[in-house]
Amino acid sequence: MSVSEARLAELYVDRQAVARNVQHFRRITGTSVMAVVKADAFGHGDVAQIALENGATWIGVASIPEALALRADGIAAPILSWLNPVNAAWADAIAASIDVAVTSIEQLYAIAAAAERYGTAARVHLHLDVGMSRDGAPSEIWSVLCIAARELEKADRIDVVGIMGHLSNADDPGHAQNDTERLRFTNGVRAARRRGLTPRELHLAASAAALHRPDLRFSMSRVGAGLYGIDPAARADLAPALTLTVPVAQLRAVHAQQGVGYGHDHVTGEATTLAVLPIGYGDGLPRAAQGRAEVSIRGQRLPIVGRISMDQIVVDVGQHPVELGDVALVLGPGDRGEPTARDWAAWAGTIEHEIVTRIGVRRSRVLRTADERWAR
Ligand SMILES: *Cc1c(COP(=O)(O)O)cnc(C)c1O
Repeated sequence: MSVSEARLAELYVDRQAVARNVQHFRRITGTSVMAVVKADAFGHGDVAQIALENGATWIGVASIPEALALRADGIAAPILSWLNPVNAAWADAIAASIDVAVTSIEQLYAIAAAAERYGTAARVHLHLDVGMSRDGAPSEIWSVLCIAARELEKADRIDVVGIMGHLSNADDPGHAQNDTERLRFTNGVRAARRRGLTPRELHLAASAAALHRPDLRFSMSRVGAGLYGIDPAARADLAPALTLTVPVAQLRAVHAQQGVGYGHDHVTGEATTLAVLPIGYGDGLPRAAQGRAEVSIRGQRLPIVGRISMDQIVVDVGQHPVELGDVALVLGPGDRGEPTARDWAAWAGTIEHEIVTRIGVRRSRVLRTADERWAR
């Protein structure tokens, strides 16, 4: 380990965990798997290739720039980008053979115009809003969108590769809204076929539905959270992939009744030892976890005390034998007693997705295998 590495927090991405999760989705769904790697793979970095090597056949991202970056990295598999403004770089997407989702007539014509200039049919997936009132085409324009898409298909401007929807309540697999949204999706597909469209891929399920609702799977599952070990329904036993470590930078003995950190939100009860760890909200630790969060040092859970600062936290190590340079486990799969992303999410009143995505932002990322996960 180099000196600079030894002084910094490190984020390990367990590629084998990602591989196992992809294999799990392949096995249980029986559908093709689109590995969703938006937001820098939920903070996990370059995992598209490992997903493809382990059974994923598609890659999914939000924006065209994300898709182009993957192409530049040599990812040759089909890539779908589903959230773009009407004046997006459609021509670049077409040139790089990137599939794009379509949610409005304006978008459809903008894509078709770019395809005409480029001289190749654009590969599109019509995205129906099945109930989220977020992205996706409103049901009121669905019929017109399908008719326009069919006309443009006949003119060789576009190729309707797929039809997609995105569920609003899939993290609660038994929720009746899932049934409503399934019906809207199948009706939308039927309407599209009536207009002459012949989509090859029908995809409604993301991680939660892929895991828990076989009837919502159709031909492809778009798996984001699940790749990284997160089951949005908190039921499946997936493999978390991140381990975040940070060395103890400073130790000090303090008296009883001593204020700690900004505002003295914490005051020591009795004389104790405090450890300073160089990591904070600038690295994605949620400030809102103050007063509940813990780290693990030498196998012992120890409380973070006082405010979580931008670059540092203070841990009350009590009588535990902690030494300078010891490595604290801030977050991991939990098999060494360390806090998990789910713990952090509970402490901060958020979801695991937000924890892992934010933590991935700043730290230097070291890709290692499971065995090397936090080797000192
Ligand atoms: C983020 C996203 C996904 C992945 O969802 P997970 O629940 O993380 O698996 C799938 N489809 C769309 C449209 C998304 O925005």
